[in-house]
Amino acid sequence: MAGERDYYEVLGVKKTATQDEIKKAYRKLARQYHPDANPNDPKAEEKFKEVSSAYETLSDAEKRKLYDAGPSFLGGGAPRGGQYQSYGGGQNMPPMGDFGDIFSNLFGGGGGGFGGFGGGRRQQRSVRRGEDVSVSVQMSFDDALKGATTKISVPQTVDCDVCRGTGAAPGTSPATCPQCQGRGAVNVSQGIFAMTQPCPRCGGSGTVIEDPCKACSGSGKTRVLKKFNVPLPAGVKDGTKIKLRGKGEPGDRGAQPGDLYVIAHVDESPVFERRGADLVIEVPVTMVEAALGATVKVPTPEGSVGLKVPSGTQNGKMLKLKGKGAPKLGASGKGDLLARIKVLTPEKLSGDQKDMLKKFADSRKEDPRAGRTGWSE
Ligand SMILES: [Zn+2]
Ligand SMILES: [Zn+2]
Repeated sequence: MAGERDYYEVLGVKKTATQDEIKKAYRKLARQYHPDANPNDPKAEEKFKEVSSAYETLSDAEKRKLYDAGPSFLGGGAPRGGQYQSYGGGQNMPPMGDFGDIFSNLFGGGGGGFGGFGGGRRQQRSVRRGEDVSVSVQMSFDDALKGATTKISVPQTVDCDVCRGTGAAPGTSPATCPQCQGRGAVNVSQGIFAMTQPCPRCGGSGTVIEDPCKACSGSGKTRVLKKFNVPLPAGVKDGTKIKLRGKGEPGDRGAQPGDLYVIAHVDESPVFERRGADLVIEVPVTMVEAALGATVKVPTPEGSVGLKVPSGTQNGKMLKLKGKGAPKLGASGKGDLLARIKVLTPEKLSGDQKDMLKKFADSRKEDPRAGRTGWSE
């Protein structure tokens, strides 16, 4: 996809936007256009890819600097190679890495001159491992306790399958650069110095693509949505990271792929409060139940159980139901269910009931504040 819209425009942020602003803008748009939220909507999918590409570049300080500098950039920022494709330019986009190396070779006197330039350097670049990718998934409270498998779609940059990553139209192949004869560098005389510079025609790669692949505009790369089934184990918590080794961006030319991290976001439950593997539930009881004791029915993730409330239980008391909590992530067994007792004071009393309570109070002659420090006159 060449001729893309301005990445800042795509994300709707200013050129001066901070990393935080960029991240926020991306999250919002990614949620809006995510293919899972817009099934069978190619326009949304296109938007999603566009937003992802923009974020991929702008979220990386180095790539952003390159992008800001524009395609004519030839400075010495020495970016790592292999990334220039992602800003979708023309087929002769120079691989901007290596320039620094050319000059250090020249003046560093490391011997051997340019003999190894064409081979060695580029091989280093080609073993670059693919990037790690992270994706968030939203899951229900129940699924987090039971475990679930979720389908996710992840945009990834892969070799264009029309040209098999060469960037050259099918049936053609990149040709040896006519200006440098594949050397990647040319000699320029400046006064008494004979300087060697990166070839302006091929940008140092030694090859030119005369007939670029139309599918990828000669970049050799294309964005695809990869679908994964991700098993989320029982006991996942909000923020749990699941690593899928080797499912990130593919590495350059057969290098190791990156990893895919799936970050779980768990909905809150209207019933339970999660504290790691323990669950907290509020259990309302009447004043009489609290005073006399009672067995009350309490929901657990696996059906109701009877909770014994001892006589004389105070408001706020925590009672423990052992092993009735959430599964322990990465361990066997379960946490506890903690029942927080809430004693309800009766409201709207009839005349008779008021009389009974007064009689009850007279029989007790209690003063809960008597004898407390600072309370007596
Ligand atoms: Zn292609
Ligand atoms: Zn050349």
